Amino acid sequence: MTNDILPRSVQRLIDEFSRLPGIGPKTASRLTFFLLRAANEQSAELSEAVRLLKSSTRLCSNCFNITEIDPCPTCSDDARDDTLLCVVEEPLDVVAIERSRVYLGRYHVLHGVISPVEGVGPDDLKIAELIQRIENGDFIEVILATNATLEGDSTALYLQRRLMPYEVKMTRLARGLPVGGDLEYTDEVTLGRAMEGRQELI
Ligand SMILES: [Zn+2]
Repeated sequence: MTNDILPRSVQRLIDEFSRLPGIGPKTASRLTFFLLRAANEQSAELSEAVRLLKSSTRLCSNCFNITEIDPCPTCSDDARDDTLLCVVEEPLDVVAIERSRVYLGRYHVLHGVISPVEGVGPDDLKIAELIQRIENGDFIEVILATNATLEGDSTALYLQRRLMPYEVKMTRLARGLPVGGDLEYTDEVTLGRAMEGRQELI
């Protein structure tokens, strides 16, 4: 929504909000005008939070989850099971699985899925790093917890083939997860059951 009537600084924020997922031009305008009317501290807090989001976080050099300290708290937690590795697409999937409270092993975040349509190949994901971890680690079971989508399934299949030479049991979350649904939008009870009922891939 380009509008010459609006001051440039107002239009700029509207444009920035519009670029965010799920935010249309109307919502972008509403948010911008809300901030215009809000107390100075509120917009200052928001801009500070956005600034620190990038400068204070990095990827864990071990599991590639988002963290403020490297290695991340999950990787440095001695109480977790070193024989179990759960492979997920995105950091939010770790949050979803942690919420279900049935899993106490380690994680590995791929940062996406293989998608020929979008030009994403295995080398664009943290797959070489995953194989390295399995080579060097004591993992007995690797849970391929990619989403139940076409890309998630084919990524799991690809990983299954790549990990075949290693002596690890490979499992996939039980069906019952909504097909085409993302892990992060699955409620914790369903996700907990899918984790507990995971099935071996052969
Ligand atoms: Zn980590």
